[in-house]
Amino acid sequence: MNKNVLVTGGAGYIGSHACKALKAAGYVPVTFDNCSTGWADAVKFGPLARGDLLDRARLDEVFAEYQPIAAMHFAALSQVGESMQEPGRYWRENVTGALNLAEAAVAAGCLDFVFSSTCATYGDQDNVVLDENSAQLPINAYGASKRAIEDILKDFGAAYGLRHVIFRYFNVAGADPEAEVGEFHQPETHLIPLMLDAIDGKRDALTIFGTDYETPDGTCIRDYVHVCDLVDAHVLGLEWLKSGKGNRVFNLGTGDGFSVREVIQHSHSVTNRDVPFVEGDRRPGDCTKLVSGSSRAVNELGWNPKRSNLEAMIRDAWRWHQNTDGHYAK
Ligand code: UDP
Repeated sequence: MNKNVLVTGGAGYIGSHACKALKAAGYVPVTFDNCSTGWADAVKFGPLARGDLLDRARLDEVFAEYQPIAAMHFAALSQVGESMQEPGRYWRENVTGALNLAEAAVAAGCLDFVFSSTCATYGDQDNVVLDENSAQLPINAYGASKRAIEDILKDFGAAYGLRHVIFRYFNVAGADPEAEVGEFHQPETHLIPLMLDAIDGKRDALTIFGTDYETPDGTCIRDYVHVCDLVDAHVLGLEWLKSGKGNRVFNLGTGDGFSVREVIQHSHSVTNRDVPFVEGDRRPGDCTKLVSGSSRAVNELGWNPKRSNLEAMIRDAWRWHQNTDGHYAK
Protein backbone atom coordinates (compact mmCIF):
# COMPACT_ATOMS: atom_id res chain seq x y z
CA MET A 1 0.00 0.00 0.00
CA ASN A 2 1.20 3.52 -0.81
CA LYS A 3 2.51 5.18 2.37
CA ASN A 4 3.95 8.29 0.73
CA VAL A 5 3.48 11.53 2.65
CA LEU A 6 4.46 14.79 0.96
CA VAL A 7 6.53 16.84 3.40
CA THR A 8 7.09 20.40 2.23
CA GLY A 9 10.11 21.85 3.96
CA GLY A 10 11.47 18.38 4.70
CA ALA A 11 15.00 19.77 4.31
CA GLY A 12 14.42 22.26 7.11
CA TYR A 13 14.71 22.01 10.87
CA ILE A 14 11.27 20.76 11.85
CA GLY A 15 10.53 19.07 8.52
CA SER A 16 13.67 16.92 8.68
CA HIS A 17 12.73 15.71 12.16
CA ALA A 18 9.20 15.03 10.89
CA CYS A 19 10.64 12.87 8.10
CA LYS A 20 12.53 10.80 10.64
CA ALA A 21 9.39 10.34 12.75
CA LEU A 22 7.27 9.46 9.71
CA LYS A 23 9.77 6.86 8.55
CA ALA A 24 9.86 5.34 12.05
CA ALA A 25 6.04 5.14 11.93
CA GLY A 26 6.11 3.24 8.61
CA TYR A 27 5.49 6.09 6.16
CA VAL A 28 7.65 7.23 3.25
CA PRO A 29 8.36 10.95 3.65
CA VAL A 30 8.71 12.62 0.26
CA THR A 31 10.42 15.95 0.79
CA PHE A 32 9.35 18.85 -1.41
CA ASP A 33 11.84 21.67 -0.90
CA ASN A 34 13.61 24.36 -2.87
CA CYS A 35 16.51 24.17 -0.40
CA SER A 36 16.52 27.97 -0.13
CA THR A 37 16.68 27.80 3.64
CA GLY A 38 16.85 24.02 4.06
CA TRP A 39 19.67 21.54 3.42
CA ALA A 40 19.70 18.66 0.96
CA ASP A 41 21.96 16.88 3.48
CA ALA A 42 19.12 16.95 6.00
CA VAL A 43 16.96 14.79 3.70
CA LYS A 44 17.91 11.35 4.98
CA PHE A 45 14.71 9.41 5.41
CA GLY A 46 13.04 9.44 1.99
CA PRO A 47 13.30 10.97 -1.48
CA LEU A 48 13.89 14.65 -2.19
CA ALA A 49 11.78 16.28 -4.91
CA ARG A 50 13.26 19.69 -5.49
CA GLY A 51 10.73 22.35 -6.26
CA ASP A 52 9.26 25.65 -5.29
CA LEU A 53 5.79 26.15 -3.90
CA LEU A 54 5.35 29.12 -6.20
CA ASP A 55 5.74 26.73 -9.16
CA ARG A 56 2.33 25.10 -9.43
CA ALA A 57 3.32 22.95 -12.42
CA ARG A 58 6.17 21.41 -10.44
CA LEU A 59 3.81 20.70 -7.55
CA ASP A 60 1.41 18.92 -9.91
CA GLU A 61 4.28 16.83 -11.26
CA VAL A 62 5.34 15.75 -7.79
CA PHE A 63 1.79 14.89 -6.75
CA ALA A 64 1.45 12.81 -9.94
CA GLU A 65 4.78 11.05 -9.45
CA TYR A 66 4.38 10.10 -5.76
CA GLN A 67 0.57 10.13 -5.26
CA PRO A 68 0.95 11.00 -1.59
CA ILE A 69 -1.79 9.96 0.81
CA ALA A 70 -1.38 13.20 2.77
CA ALA A 71 0.55 16.45 2.81
CA MET A 72 2.44 17.92 5.75
CA HIS A 73 3.19 21.55 5.11
CA PHE A 74 6.24 22.95 6.91
CA ALA A 75 7.90 25.04 4.19
CA ALA A 76 7.70 28.72 5.06
CA LEU A 77 9.65 31.81 5.86
CA SER A 78 9.59 31.90 9.65
CA GLN A 79 11.51 34.83 11.08
CA VAL A 80 9.48 37.36 12.98
CA GLY A 81 12.00 40.19 12.61
CA GLU A 82 12.49 39.64 8.87
CA SER A 83 8.73 39.52 8.37
CA MET A 84 8.48 43.06 9.73
CA GLN A 85 11.11 44.27 7.27
CA GLU A 86 9.95 42.32 4.21
CA PRO A 87 6.24 41.63 4.66
CA GLY A 88 5.69 41.24 0.91
CA ARG A 89 7.93 38.18 0.80
CA TYR A 90 6.03 36.64 3.70
CA TRP A 91 2.66 37.18 2.09
CA ARG A 92 3.84 35.94 -1.28
CA GLU A 93 5.94 32.96 -0.30
CA ASN A 94 3.94 31.77 2.69
CA VAL A 95 0.39 32.49 1.59
CA THR A 96 0.65 32.04 -2.18
CA GLY A 97 2.87 29.00 -1.63
CA ALA A 98 0.31 27.38 0.68
CA LEU A 99 -2.53 28.29 -1.67
CA ASN A 100 -0.73 26.57 -4.56
CA LEU A 101 -0.08 23.53 -2.41
CA ALA A 102 -3.69 23.29 -1.24
CA GLU A 103 -4.97 23.65 -4.81
CA ALA A 104 -2.53 21.04 -6.10
CA ALA A 105 -3.49 18.67 -3.27
CA VAL A 106 -7.19 19.03 -4.03
CA ALA A 107 -6.58 18.57 -7.76
CA ALA A 108 -4.63 15.38 -7.03
CA GLY A 109 -7.27 14.05 -4.62
CA CYS A 110 -4.84 14.23 -1.70
CA LEU A 111 -7.31 15.46 0.90
CA ASP A 112 -5.52 15.05 4.23
CA PHE A 113 -3.45 18.08 5.14
CA VAL A 114 -1.37 18.73 8.26
CA PHE A 115 -0.31 22.33 8.62
CA SER A 116 2.36 23.91 10.73
CA SER A 117 0.95 27.14 12.10
CA THR A 118 2.22 29.21 14.98
CA CYS A 119 1.47 30.83 18.30
CA ALA A 120 2.44 34.08 16.54
CA THR A 121 -1.12 34.03 15.16
CA TYR A 122 -2.34 34.88 18.69
CA GLY A 123 -0.31 38.07 19.05
CA ASP A 124 0.37 39.85 22.31
CA GLN A 125 -2.39 39.10 24.78
CA ASP A 126 -1.67 40.39 28.25
CA ASN A 127 -0.22 37.52 30.21
CA VAL A 128 -2.83 34.94 29.33
CA VAL A 129 -2.20 31.27 28.72
CA LEU A 130 -3.34 30.79 25.14
CA ASP A 131 -5.71 28.01 24.20
CA GLU A 132 -7.04 27.12 20.78
CA ASN A 133 -10.06 29.38 21.26
CA SER A 134 -7.99 32.45 22.08
CA ALA A 135 -8.44 35.30 19.61
CA GLN A 136 -5.96 35.36 16.73
CA LEU A 137 -4.57 38.89 16.67
CA PRO A 138 -1.09 38.65 15.13
CA ILE A 139 1.27 41.60 15.54
CA ASN A 140 3.79 40.60 12.87
CA ALA A 141 3.58 39.66 9.21
CA TYR A 142 4.80 36.12 9.91
CA GLY A 143 1.86 35.45 12.24
CA ALA A 144 -0.54 37.19 9.89
CA SER A 145 0.59 35.05 6.95
CA LYS A 146 0.07 31.86 8.94
CA ARG A 147 -3.38 32.94 10.09
CA ALA A 148 -4.31 33.59 6.46
CA ILE A 149 -3.26 30.05 5.55
CA GLU A 150 -5.44 28.68 8.34
CA ASP A 151 -8.35 30.56 6.74
CA ILE A 152 -7.53 29.09 3.33
CA LEU A 153 -7.63 25.58 4.79
CA LYS A 154 -10.98 26.20 6.45
CA ASP A 155 -12.46 27.50 3.19
CA PHE A 156 -10.99 24.59 1.22
CA GLY A 157 -12.45 22.21 3.79
CA ALA A 158 -15.92 23.64 3.26
CA ALA A 159 -15.67 23.89 -0.53
CA TYR A 160 -13.56 20.91 -1.57
CA GLY A 161 -13.52 18.52 1.38
CA LEU A 162 -9.85 19.15 2.23
CA ARG A 163 -9.41 17.76 5.75
CA HIS A 164 -6.92 19.51 7.98
CA VAL A 165 -5.14 19.33 11.27
CA ILE A 166 -3.55 22.66 12.20
CA PHE A 167 -0.79 22.75 14.79
CA ARG A 168 0.02 26.08 16.39
CA TYR A 169 3.56 25.72 17.63
CA PHE A 170 5.08 27.58 20.46
CA ASN A 171 8.92 27.78 20.47
CA VAL A 172 10.47 24.70 18.95
CA ALA A 173 13.89 23.75 20.28
CA GLY A 174 16.28 20.83 20.70
CA ALA A 175 17.46 18.30 18.15
CA ASP A 176 17.27 14.62 17.33
CA PRO A 177 18.97 12.92 20.34
CA GLU A 178 20.82 10.69 17.82
CA ALA A 179 22.08 13.89 16.17
CA GLU A 180 21.16 12.69 12.66
CA VAL A 181 19.36 15.99 12.11
CA GLY A 182 19.29 19.24 14.04
CA GLU A 183 18.71 22.95 13.88
CA PHE A 184 20.74 25.00 11.47
CA HIS A 185 19.54 28.18 9.86
CA GLN A 186 21.62 30.51 7.74
CA PRO A 187 21.56 33.19 8.99
CA GLU A 188 20.63 31.96 12.45
CA THR A 189 18.11 34.07 14.35
CA HIS A 190 16.81 31.73 17.05
CA LEU A 191 17.69 32.06 20.68
CA ILE A 192 19.06 28.63 21.58
CA PRO A 193 21.36 28.02 18.58
CA LEU A 194 22.64 31.60 18.84
CA MET A 195 23.33 31.05 22.51
CA LEU A 196 25.26 27.86 21.77
CA ASP A 197 27.29 29.71 19.13
CA ALA A 198 28.13 32.38 21.71
CA ILE A 199 29.12 29.75 24.27
CA ASP A 200 31.35 28.15 21.65
CA GLY A 201 32.98 31.41 20.62
CA LYS A 202 31.45 31.28 17.13
CA ARG A 203 29.99 34.70 17.77
CA ASP A 204 31.01 37.32 20.26
CA ALA A 205 27.93 37.47 22.41
CA LEU A 206 24.22 36.83 22.46
CA THR A 207 22.15 40.01 22.41
CA ILE A 208 19.12 39.92 24.67
CA PHE A 209 16.38 41.65 22.71
CA GLY A 210 14.75 43.92 25.24
CA THR A 211 15.02 44.01 29.02
CA ASP A 212 12.10 46.33 29.72
CA TYR A 213 9.18 43.98 29.05
CA GLU A 214 6.49 43.62 31.70
CA THR A 215 7.78 40.28 32.93
CA PRO A 216 9.47 39.45 36.24
CA ASP A 217 13.01 39.87 34.84
CA GLY A 218 12.14 42.23 31.97
CA THR A 219 12.83 39.74 29.14
CA CYS A 220 10.33 37.97 26.88
CA ILE A 221 8.75 34.72 27.96
CA ARG A 222 8.31 31.78 25.61
CA ASP A 223 7.05 28.19 25.87
CA TYR A 224 9.71 25.84 24.49
CA VAL A 225 8.73 22.46 23.05
CA HIS A 226 11.15 19.74 21.93
CA VAL A 227 11.22 19.22 18.18
CA CYS A 228 10.92 15.42 18.59
CA ASP A 229 7.78 15.78 20.70
CA LEU A 230 6.43 18.25 18.18
CA VAL A 231 6.87 15.93 15.21
CA ASP A 232 5.39 13.00 17.15
CA ALA A 233 2.23 15.10 17.37
CA HIS A 234 2.28 15.41 13.57
CA VAL A 235 2.26 11.66 13.13
CA LEU A 236 -0.66 11.50 15.55
CA GLY A 237 -2.34 14.29 13.57
CA LEU A 238 -1.96 12.30 10.38
CA GLU A 239 -3.48 9.26 12.04
CA TRP A 240 -6.28 11.44 13.41
CA LEU A 241 -7.15 12.48 9.87
CA LYS A 242 -6.85 8.96 8.50
CA SER A 243 -9.27 7.69 11.13
CA GLY A 244 -11.83 10.24 9.94
CA LYS A 245 -11.89 12.44 13.02
CA GLY A 246 -12.06 15.61 10.97
CA ASN A 247 -10.69 19.13 11.07
CA ARG A 248 -9.05 20.22 14.29
CA VAL A 249 -6.64 22.84 15.63
CA PHE A 250 -4.12 21.94 18.33
CA ASN A 251 -1.65 24.06 20.25
CA LEU A 252 1.72 22.43 20.80
CA GLY A 253 3.52 23.77 23.83
CA THR A 254 4.07 22.71 27.40
CA GLY A 255 2.25 25.39 29.37
CA ASP A 256 5.55 26.46 31.01
CA GLY A 257 7.06 29.80 30.13
CA PHE A 258 10.75 30.69 30.38
CA SER A 259 12.26 34.13 30.02
CA VAL A 260 15.34 34.77 27.89
CA ARG A 261 17.39 35.16 31.07
CA GLU A 262 16.09 31.85 32.38
CA VAL A 263 17.08 30.10 29.15
CA ILE A 264 20.58 31.54 29.56
CA GLN A 265 20.75 30.24 33.13
CA HIS A 266 19.64 26.75 32.10
CA SER A 267 22.26 26.72 29.34
CA HIS A 268 24.93 27.43 31.85
CA SER A 269 23.86 24.44 33.94
CA VAL A 270 23.77 22.10 30.91
CA THR A 271 27.00 23.15 29.22
CA ASN A 272 28.92 24.30 32.28
CA ARG A 273 30.01 27.32 30.32
CA ASP A 274 29.11 30.97 30.59
CA VAL A 275 26.92 32.54 27.94
CA PRO A 276 28.48 35.83 26.90
CA PHE A 277 25.61 38.26 26.41
CA VAL A 278 24.83 41.92 26.02
CA GLU A 279 21.54 43.67 26.59
CA GLY A 280 20.02 45.25 23.49
CA ASP A 281 16.86 46.90 22.21
CA ARG A 282 13.59 45.13 21.66
CA ARG A 283 13.20 43.30 18.33
CA PRO A 284 10.20 44.69 16.39
CA GLY A 285 7.31 42.24 16.26
CA ASP A 286 8.18 40.32 19.44
CA CYS A 287 5.34 39.49 21.82
CA THR A 288 5.93 39.85 25.57
CA LYS A 289 4.75 36.38 26.49
CA LEU A 290 3.59 33.34 24.53
CA VAL A 291 2.61 30.34 26.62
CA SER A 292 0.41 27.50 25.47
CA GLY A 293 -2.54 25.79 26.95
CA SER A 294 -1.99 22.42 25.29
CA SER A 295 -4.34 20.07 27.09
CA ARG A 296 -6.31 19.50 23.88
CA ALA A 297 -3.41 17.74 22.16
CA VAL A 298 -2.78 15.61 25.23
CA ASN A 299 -6.43 14.72 25.81
CA GLU A 300 -7.66 14.28 22.25
CA LEU A 301 -4.60 13.23 20.25
CA GLY A 302 -2.97 11.27 23.04
CA TRP A 303 0.14 13.43 22.69
CA ASN A 304 2.75 12.55 25.28
CA PRO A 305 5.64 15.01 25.18
CA LYS A 306 8.65 13.23 26.69
CA ARG A 307 11.61 15.52 26.10
CA SER A 308 10.10 18.98 26.41
CA ASN A 309 11.94 20.19 29.47
CA LEU A 310 14.44 22.96 28.97
CA GLU A 311 17.46 20.94 30.09
CA ALA A 312 16.76 18.12 27.63
CA MET A 313 16.16 20.58 24.81
CA ILE A 314 19.40 22.44 25.44
CA ARG A 315 21.32 19.19 26.00
CA ASP A 316 20.09 17.71 22.68
CA ALA A 317 20.79 20.95 20.84
CA TRP A 318 24.24 21.11 22.42
CA ARG A 319 25.00 17.49 21.40
CA TRP A 320 24.01 18.24 17.80
CA HIS A 321 26.03 21.42 17.91
CA GLN A 322 29.13 19.64 19.16
CA ASN A 323 28.80 16.54 16.95
CA THR A 324 28.31 18.51 13.79
CA ASP A 325 29.82 21.85 14.59
CA GLY A 326 26.23 23.11 14.39
CA HIS A 327 25.73 22.76 10.66
CA TYR A 328 25.31 20.41 7.72
CA ALA A 329 28.10 19.86 5.24
CA LYS A 330 27.99 22.53 2.57
N1 UDP B 1 15.94 36.44 21.41
C1 UDP B 1 16.96 37.22 21.96
N2 UDP B 1 18.14 37.30 21.28
C2 UDP B 1 18.36 36.67 20.09
C3 UDP B 1 17.32 35.86 19.54
C4 UDP B 1 16.12 35.78 20.24
O1 UDP B 1 16.80 37.82 23.02
O2 UDP B 1 19.45 36.81 19.52
C5 UDP B 1 14.66 36.34 22.13
C6 UDP B 1 13.48 36.85 21.31
O3 UDP B 1 13.29 38.23 21.52
C7 UDP B 1 12.34 36.00 21.90
C8 UDP B 1 13.02 34.69 22.29
O4 UDP B 1 14.42 34.99 22.37
O5 UDP B 1 11.83 36.59 23.06
C9 UDP B 1 12.83 33.59 21.29
O6 UDP B 1 13.14 34.10 20.00
P1 UDP B 1 13.31 33.16 18.73
O7 UDP B 1 13.77 34.02 17.61
O8 UDP B 1 14.15 31.99 19.10
O9 UDP B 1 11.85 32.61 18.47
P2 UDP B 1 10.45 33.39 18.23
O10 UDP B 1 9.84 33.60 19.58
O11 UDP B 1 10.74 34.66 17.48
O12 UDP B 1 9.67 32.43 17.40
